[in-house]
Amino acid sequence: MNQKQMGLYIHIPFCKKKCYYCDFSSYSGMEDYWEPYVDAVVNELAMKASEYKNPVIDTVFIGGGTPSLIPQKLIWKLLNAVHKYYRINQGYENTIEANPGTLSDDKLQAYKEFGINRISIGLQACQDDLLNRIGRIHSHKDFLASVELAQKYGFKNINADIIFGIPDQSFNQWQETIETIVSLDIPHVSCYSLIIEEDTMFGKMKKNGELSEPDEDLDREMYYYAVETLAQRGFIHYEISNFAKPNHICRHNMNYWRRGHYIGAGAGAHSFIDNRRFANTSDVVTYIDGVKDEELQLSESYDLDTEDAIEEFIFLGIRLEEGIDLAHIEREFGINIEARYRMKIDRLVKQGLVECKGTLVKLTKQGLDLANRVILELV
Ligand code: SF4
Repeated sequence: MNQKQMGLYIHIPFCKKKCYYCDFSSYSGMEDYWEPYVDAVVNELAMKASEYKNPVIDTVFIGGGTPSLIPQKLIWKLLNAVHKYYRINQGYENTIEANPGTLSDDKLQAYKEFGINRISIGLQACQDDLLNRIGRIHSHKDFLASVELAQKYGFKNINADIIFGIPDQSFNQWQETIETIVSLDIPHVSCYSLIIEEDTMFGKMKKNGELSEPDEDLDREMYYYAVETLAQRGFIHYEISNFAKPNHICRHNMNYWRRGHYIGAGAGAHSFIDNRRFANTSDVVTYIDGVKDEELQLSESYDLDTEDAIEEFIFLGIRLEEGIDLAHIEREFGINIEARYRMKIDRLVKQGLVECKGTLVKLTKQGLDLANRVILELV
């Protein structure tokens, strides 16, 4: 392994109830597995620490699923293992994902004591009828109470996840959601357009003609509204879907987009180390059994060749406000960038999709909307 610092992702695949749009690796009704699962993750953390020679960890991200659903003593077990088996960078970022309705005084106090310093809360929308329609377990009031509680325990670094393009969501409802976020003291917002995946409840409803398709123009209008309003309120639009007040950019996610190394632990967790990408099985029982037998079951594993790595560098990096530095491709992969990219870049500049300063290339406002076209042109 040739990188000194890396990210560590821990997946908790349990939820109270499956949301109708969700295609993440998450399951409800598996309470009996919570403890054996966490014990398996602790063992995996030990195995990976020894395999990668006690790497230095700069960010820890406990994601899901709903990590805030399981008892705090299980979160403690996980973080205790992280501290026991890994070297932790001073000032590391330590995030937990939480859903409104699953946080309590005891949990937040415990998180603070465990060194968690960032909370990402799933709000999605501010209207209870919309929350109901997408199968969320909480109300808007629950979200406000969660933020207040987190702030009471000293959490300043809070993210809110919100979704636009929900079937039958009006522009006014989206405006109201954005206005609520900016009125609270929350320094990070992730805004994603709802994508209806086949293997979800919404996917099935769409197939049966029971779901009205979100209007594409309205979807774009909602996105522009978020971009403009959040910029006016001091948020930096640092990635296509992510906005942060100064000093609150999510370091863990930046590491993904910059192709930094990370270890993933838990069912369905992905890792990227030394140009190899691999993912654990997302089946909880198979995962636990695999760890017991000291033979982790993977759902995928592949090595990237030079062309794959360049492609990734472009499609991950171009999403960022900082853009990509083509000189990096020349340095790292020995490619003559003038010969390969000059004409393509000139064409994209003429079309108003990217701007270019020397070897630095980034999306314009128009390009943000047509990022896939830019990526296709470049790779
Ligand atoms: S809370 Fe998140 S992970 Fe769980 S079902 Fe809903 S969208 Fe999926």
